[in-house]
Amino acid sequence: MAEERDMMGDGPIRLTRPVHPMPEFVKDSIVRRGLLEAYRSRPPYQRNDYIGWISRAKQQKTQEKRLAQMLDELAAGDSYMGMKYKGARSRRVIDYLSPEAVRSLAALSNLRLGKEIAVSGGVELIESSPALVVARVRPEGGQRRTVELRSTEKGLTWKCTCTTKGTFCKHCVAAAVVVQRRPDFNYSASASIKASVAR
Ligand SMILES: [Zn+2]
Repeated sequence: MAEERDMMGDGPIRLTRPVHPMPEFVKDSIVRRGLLEAYRSRPPYQRNDYIGWISRAKQQKTQEKRLAQMLDELAAGDSYMGMKYKGARSRRVIDYLSPEAVRSLAALSNLRLGKEIAVSGGVELIESSPALVVARVRPEGGQRRTVELRSTEKGLTWKCTCTTKGTFCKHCVAAAVVVQRRPDFNYSASASIKASVAR
C-alpha cells in the first residue's frame, strides 16, 4: 500500500519540540520544595515549557520570579502557566506515549513489529479523543485486532484483543506510533481513518 503524504507538507510531522535541559538550580529548587513527584506527574509538554520559559528569562530576577511561579503552581496542582489545569485527570492518552515512554512499555521485538505495522498503514483509528484511542490494527498478512488506549486517574491503560494479555503488544505499539506521529489525526476524528506514518 502506498504511503500517504503528510497533510501538512514535507516530511513526517513531529510532536516533539526542542527539549530544554533542566538547569541545576531549577532541579535543586524542585527537590528542596518536595515537589519532585508533582513535577514528574505533569505531562512532558508542561515540564518542557516551564523549563524553557524559566531558561529564557534574561534577568536573574525574572528567572527567579518564573521559577517561583512554577513551584507555586506545582504545589497547588491546579494551574499551569497561569491557566487552569485539572491535574492527572486531564492527562491525554498522547501525554503517555512519548517515544521514550513507549520504549519503556514494550519489549524490543514488539517495538520493531509495531512500527512496521504503523508504517505499512495497518492502523485505523476508530475513536480518537483526548482520553481514549481505539484503533483497529492489522499486521500485513495477519489478523485484525482492536486496541484501546485509555488515560485514567491511575495512568495509561491498554487493551488488545490479541492473545498477549496484559503486555504492551505490537498492536498497542502500532496504535501508539500513529498517535505520536499523526497529531493531525488526533482528537478530531469522527470517522475512522486509515492512518499511515512515514518510516
Ligand atoms: Zn495485541
